[in-house]
Amino acid sequence: MPGNPNEIKLVNNAMSNATRRKIMNFLSAGDKSTGEIGGEVGKTMLDFHLKLLQQASLIEIEEGTVKLSEYGKNFLEDKEDKSVNKITDISQAKPIEITEVRQLLPCIADSSKFRVIANMAPSLGETLKVLEPLFPRGRYSDKISALIMQKGEIITTVYGTGKVTMTMIKNEDEAKEALENLRSTINEAIAKGVAPAPREKVRVEPMELYLPQTNCGKCGEQSCYTFAIKLMSSEASLDKCTSLKEPKYATNQEHLQVLTAYI
Ligand code: SF4
Repeated sequence: MPGNPNEIKLVNNAMSNATRRKIMNFLSAGDKSTGEIGGEVGKTMLDFHLKLLQQASLIEIEEGTVKLSEYGKNFLEDKEDKSVNKITDISQAKPIEITEVRQLLPCIADSSKFRVIANMAPSLGETLKVLEPLFPRGRYSDKISALIMQKGEIITTVYGTGKVTMTMIKNEDEAKEALENLRSTINEAIAKGVAPAPREKVRVEPMELYLPQTNCGKCGEQSCYTFAIKLMSSEASLDKCTSLKEPKYATNQEHLQVLTAYI
């Protein structure tokens, strides 16, 4: 059963693709032949998709028959439980206001930019988790009880307590605009009273996993990780990573082409 970080990355990668998720759901009804799966999800790159699911220990293939592994079954059950438990009613939440912009300090990484610390009230607590789909590059962290969002270079973190931090802000006007956008996006959802539909996520991790991870900077980014983030937000194209053209990375490139096709 996957447990170490690399194995978890393989699972994340396998499940980051709509066709592969469809295959998993199709298999939850019982074992299928590869022909039946091809009929359900299409035959394009079917071998590739099955191989990734197999590598992630989610399925087993035997003499043309494909079935969910024990881990695959548990994975789907766990996912179902989590979605059932999701809070969907946000009708009790109150509209928020930005009550205070406390500090504008130079960024550590780039002193020409600022980091901002602000406050919003009332605090949203766990409701923040439900609001995650409102923000295309948003991710809720249970560990710090905060919603972390990325837009261009700006990374905004909204904590359940009401504290808001922003990094890589150009000036006060940009800070005000970003905070106002945040306020109005959240308040529009609260006014509707229902949680936004959970969105399918393509994770950054698989992208990063298949990049050469040399951090050579030829793509114009400081690291493969930041390039992966740009790929995710469609701000960079794969061909900017010239290292990927080396023959030894041919398979990585193929995987990345599939992943980027689903952004
Ligand atoms: S060019 Fe490719 S290998 Fe080099 S830092 Fe950028 S993504 Fe990484």
